[in-house]
Amino acid sequence: MTASASPWTTDVVVIGAGPAGLALACALAPLGLRVEVVERQPEAALAEPAFDGREIALTHGSMRLLRELGIWAHLPGDAAWPLRAARIMERDASRELRVDGLESGHDRLGCLVANHLIRAAAWRAVQALPQVRVHAGASVASVRTDERAAEVTLADGRVLRAGLLAAADSRFSQTRQALGIEADLHDFGRHMLVCRMRHDEVSNEGEAWQWFGDAQTRAVLPLDAHTSSVVLTLAGHEAARLEALDDEAYAREVERRLERRLGPMRTASSRHRYPLVAVYARRFAATRAALVGDAAVGMHPVTAHGFNLGLAGVERLAEAVRLSLQRHADPAHPQALARYDRRHRRGSLPLFLATRAVVELYTDDRAAMRPLRRLALGASARLAPFRRALAAGLMDEGPVDPPLPARLRTALDWLRPRAH
Ligand SMILES: Cc1cc2nc3c(=O)[nH]c(=O)nc-3n(C[C@H](O)[C@H](O)[C@H](O)COP(=O)(O)OP(=O)(O)OC[C@H]3O[C@@H](n4cnc5c(N)ncnc54)[C@H](O)[C@@H]3O)c2cc1C
Repeated sequence: MTASASPWTTDVVVIGAGPAGLALACALAPLGLRVEVVERQPEAALAEPAFDGREIALTHGSMRLLRELGIWAHLPGDAAWPLRAARIMERDASRELRVDGLESGHDRLGCLVANHLIRAAAWRAVQALPQVRVHAGASVASVRTDERAAEVTLADGRVLRAGLLAAADSRFSQTRQALGIEADLHDFGRHMLVCRMRHDEVSNEGEAWQWFGDAQTRAVLPLDAHTSSVVLTLAGHEAARLEALDDEAYAREVERRLERRLGPMRTASSRHRYPLVAVYARRFAATRAALVGDAAVGMHPVTAHGFNLGLAGVERLAEAVRLSLQRHADPAHPQALARYDRRHRRGSLPLFLATRAVVELYTDDRAAMRPLRRLALGASARLAPFRRALAAGLMDEGPVDPPLPARLRTALDWLRPRAH
């Protein structure tokens, strides 16, 4: 059953034109489906999104998928910064875990692309698809689904009736709530403060750092050799204080917090602050509805996997819809949605849990955690297989979905040093 043979006015409605929602539209349109995307932001903000401070570390699997979806071709030629290696350091930086692409036979771990450029590229990709229509500046008044259809009523009275409703409206998804799907939310009580910094005298060598310390985590994401995105994770009040500093005072503060390892610095962008809240939906599917992107899994950014998991979910949902059309002539047969729910849970839960554990182990300020942390980094650095597993995770080729025991083993590998 497709829109032409049913009371549906379209085949799929996607709520949220963020990077996950637009990527899903790009994945479903080639299946011959008509897709309508509802977004509350105005069209100008979608066509030319403002810089938001997020530099997205993309895995090899995500780069492949963005190419296949026709999004990568719309990125500016100089948008992707290679990520050669990553270093994870404890407070005094005397112990570190280093991972580089060569360990898995790649010349890089992945690449960094600014989030606003991904959004703009996804918007352009959607413009090239006549089957996709975006309702920008639109508010959703109500959502209702039953066995026959998913119905979305907009605040201006328009009613969209579809075979499938996809919620891609952020980790605080109102659609998820309207569908009655519960989610586990965890507020870390911390904020991330991000800003591009210029450091002319010292090169970042193309290496990312994640540097844990007392009451703060510092991360450096290499853009060009002398420009890095510096990400500070701090208590909310401290992040707000730093955000309010003038550029000069902020640069001195960042130099001090990085112990001048990148020499004198100056700000090279606006600053952006994000409260850290992780979300995991109890179900990724309901009758004629599915959750994708952060609406399904909203990760803590420390392992840089939120959008990567979002894209993996897009690929899994598109595959489930393709099979559903093939076997049942319906984009949202219950068996297909159950398959998506199962596969995406299996592909995301171990990483979600491992990330939570890493955050708790490495950012818990209680003195009792420090020796454990040092032990973890020391053991990790000695464990070549652990390092290879980490590199392989970063260089994931996409949602290959090994069986659950294998994914759990990967998650346990992350945690293994705790037992030493
Ligand atoms: C500081 C930071 C760094 C990060 N770094 C990385 C990284 O290195 N690697 C990585 O993979 N991920 C990273 N992430 C995560 C990544 O940014 C997110 O996973 C990704 O942006 C989620 O995309 P999304 O489309 O699901 O949601 P969003 O980007 O939140 O988009 C949701 C869209 O839905 C719209 N919307 C919301 N409610 C409604 C409504 N009721 N009606 C209509 N429209 C609505 C919004 O306006 C928005 O356009 C990072 C996140 C942060 C905060």
